Amino acid sequence: MNICVIGTGYVGLVTGACFAELGNKVTCVDIDKEKINHLKKGVVPIYEPGLAELVRKNQKRRRISFTTDLKEGVRSSAVIFIAVGTPPKDNGEADLTYVENVSRQIAECMRSYKLIVEKSTVPVETGERIKYTVEINNRNKVDFDIASNPEFLREGSAIHDFMHPDRIVIGVESKGARELLVELYKPLKAPLVVTDLRSAEIIKHASNSFLATKISFINAISNVCERTGADVKKVAEGMGLDKRIGRSFLEAGVGFGGFCFPKDLGAFIHICEKVGYDFGLLRETEKINEAQKRLLVKKIHDVLWIVKGKTIGVLGLSFKPNTDDIRFAPSLDIIAALQQEGAKIKAYDPKAMEKAAAVVKNVKFCKNAYEAAKDANCLVVVTEWDEFKKLDLKKIKKVLRQPLLVDGRNIYEPEAMKALGFKYVSIGRP
Ligand code: NAD
Repeated sequence: MNICVIGTGYVGLVTGACFAELGNKVTCVDIDKEKINHLKKGVVPIYEPGLAELVRKNQKRRRISFTTDLKEGVRSSAVIFIAVGTPPKDNGEADLTYVENVSRQIAECMRSYKLIVEKSTVPVETGERIKYTVEINNRNKVDFDIASNPEFLREGSAIHDFMHPDRIVIGVESKGARELLVELYKPLKAPLVVTDLRSAEIIKHASNSFLATKISFINAISNVCERTGADVKKVAEGMGLDKRIGRSFLEAGVGFGGFCFPKDLGAFIHICEKVGYDFGLLRETEKINEAQKRLLVKKIHDVLWIVKGKTIGVLGLSFKPNTDDIRFAPSLDIIAALQQEGAKIKAYDPKAMEKAAAVVKNVKFCKNAYEAAKDANCLVVVTEWDEFKKLDLKKIKKVLRQPLLVDGRNIYEPEAMKALGFKYVSIGRP
């Protein structure tokens, strides 16, 4: 099929590259000229394992191309995916300006039937708003359908997740739209959930809110463990083996971040309020998450006593491992809080330092974890990159000014750290 993907960010670019890999002809559109110029040369501006190779391979086969000209992409395709950003406004509501903008532009330039698919995460009823926008700008009275096809990929394993999804959700209003999307996704052989538009939109917000709640739940349990001398890792293991609960998303830590959970949770709370339902459980999920970030700063206080003038080494800046994405990363709040108290920050992240350098000030970026630890009064683990799990901890202890390690992701074992001579503090463990 000829497909157009509008927005070539973490979701759009992966979607475009994977559809090309499945044998479709994909035109990727973005307003960011620099991004498109890079992509045309096979330079992928984000870090996502395997993505650069997949893009270049399909460029060579002429199955994927890049343009800033939306008209070119729309006119050459029957199926158009909207994958632009839906960032949060100050009140938590999703800002749908980009979605509206793109919907209008599609309507203005289409000349033949189009299936317009919302891939971006959007509040319920956005499909109807897109339909309305296309209708009032449909100068050539062209036939069209709207569908919702929320994306569940995770940064860091995005290609695998796209190619091997647990399920594909399709919200449609017509048989034609359904048939097109079923055909497009057929090669993935994944369970398909076909619904109406609104249910598909709610599935995405409900799923992310549920996962965020699971994280906040185990973080709340970690607070109980700290007050009772229990070990949250053992508690999570004991809970997680129950198939009804499951082990994933039961890692206590510094809280969730990224471009999905915080913003989708906020947007869902907002939309629930708007339709007259106070979803108190989700407000509590948010509250626990904010408290968890502050808890790490408090733990740093506890081990250092005075933070002012001290040097703190930070390991990990991305909101999770295997990505360079720092949007809403807990590291940003933690660094800001420590700097406000007069701490000097040294930091190392395997992939996210370039992006972090654009948003944090007065941070010394280091070329590895040992350099970040060197002469620091305390070392703090904020993101659980695999390479941090394999560090030579004897060497770390040697280069630190004081053997203080605050582990916000529980990646080391308390007994072993004690034996090495560290004052080691983690989350929810004695
Ligand atoms: P992103 O910011 O990485 O990418 C968005 C892209 O859209 C940018 O490149 C931007 O330049 C482009 N854009 C904005 N306006 C445009 C316009 N008028 N025309 C063409 N391009 C335009 O965002 P992302 O992380 O890919 O997220 C996109 C959507 O997918 C969001 O709604 C997000 O919630 C959702 N989502 C994200 C993830 C994730 O892990 N990042 C997972 C599932 C769903």
